[in-house]
Amino acid sequence: MGSEPKRGIGRRAVLIGGGAAVAGTALLARDEIRRAWWRLPGTRKKRVEGELDHPGAQWTAAARANWRRADRPDDFTIDRVVIHVVQGSFPTALKVFKNPGHGAATHYVVRKDGHIAQMIRELDVAFHAGDRDMNERSIGIEHEGYVHRAKDFTEAMYASSARLTAGICGRYGIPLDREHIIGHVEVPGTDHTDPGPHWDWDRYMKLVRAASREPAPAKA
Ligand SMILES: [Zn+2]
Repeated sequence: MGSEPKRGIGRRAVLIGGGAAVAGTALLARDEIRRAWWRLPGTRKKRVEGELDHPGAQWTAAARANWRRADRPDDFTIDRVVIHVVQGSFPTALKVFKNPGHGAATHYVVRKDGHIAQMIRELDVAFHAGDRDMNERSIGIEHEGYVHRAKDFTEAMYASSARLTAGICGRYGIPLDREHIIGHVEVPGTDHTDPGPHWDWDRYMKLVRAASREPAPAKA
């Protein structure tokens, strides 16, 4: 789609901005505008404090030092979900991700009862994978518990996390497979081992695929 003359974009942008999109050309025009948008210096997507990407999640912001402002998926393609286990409790995860000295945080933290906290917007780059390329292309999900304790990975946690991952994959067109939904341990060059040997990938991927076939959840 790179052959469209650039001079057409400005006029279309005005049309779309004014809500006058014509059905037949709307998709193409929207795509061009999205790509034109992030090239403009100083333009950013509208941000609303406390706005969520996952319906029903609790918003609690990570420290500003633990993520980088971005405009994904326009500036970076999102094509990976990275699964973590925190080696601690849900409150501990929130506490360290709110600590600017920690230098890391995930977009989401899932509790044993299935409750989800969102700490960083999906359009922004969270420092969670220990790898710049992977951070820029991924969404990070932290799970309460310890890698060596299989009982920490509860049914409610798997189900809730799977719905979250299915939603993320649906939003960005990420394939529901183990190439795109990976553990921190699978990030190239990492010395981290999470989510560990007790994380049941077969069970999780089945739940993700099932959740992807459900209708989108209503806003809580
Ligand atoms: Zn990790």
